[in-house]
Amino acid sequence: MIVAAACGVLSWTLLEYLIHRWMGHDRRFRRTPFGVEHVRHHIEGNYFAPTWKKGIAAALFVAVLIGPAIALAGAARGAAYVVGLVGFYGVYEWLHRREHTHAGVGPYGRWARRHHFHHHFVDGRKNHGVTSPLWDLVFGTYEKPGTIRVPQKLCMAWLLDPATGDVRSEHAATYELR
Ligand SMILES: [Zn+2]
Ligand SMILES: [Zn+2]
Repeated sequence: MIVAAACGVLSWTLLEYLIHRWMGHDRRFRRTPFGVEHVRHHIEGNYFAPTWKKGIAAALFVAVLIGPAIALAGAARGAAYVVGLVGFYGVYEWLHRREHTHAGVGPYGRWARRHHFHHHFVDGRKNHGVTSPLWDLVFGTYEKPGTIRVPQKLCMAWLLDPATGDVRSEHAATYELR
């Protein structure tokens, strides 16, 4: 069951990459509900699709997936797979929002923000993964962030020092305003 749940987690990381790269950034999918929401997230920076929309999408996904998963792997392992996948989807949602709203804690927290804001502000064709760089490395879209130049009007509150109107000193080596 642990292996099945781990497979579910791994499956989410791949879906996270594919949905973001293709549904979010391929012109052919710009008019889909996800495409529209994602373009708005990039334009406004602090906009996130409403939770009820995410909830409906996740519920539909579980409804479609649970039958085949149980048929293929049995009740316990099939359910563990789906719980692993949807549970890690929840982790992704939490992490993505925290990246925008709070400064990172620890090496992973700082890495995740730099990886994601390189995607937002440097090159939207790179770094589609949010929880890991795994599929960017597999598909050749990984780029190691240098200094990230953040547009003033899209600057995250955690990055901005209200006293100086510039990047907080602890982030000055890795971010700057443009
Ligand atoms: Zn994007
Ligand atoms: Zn984002």
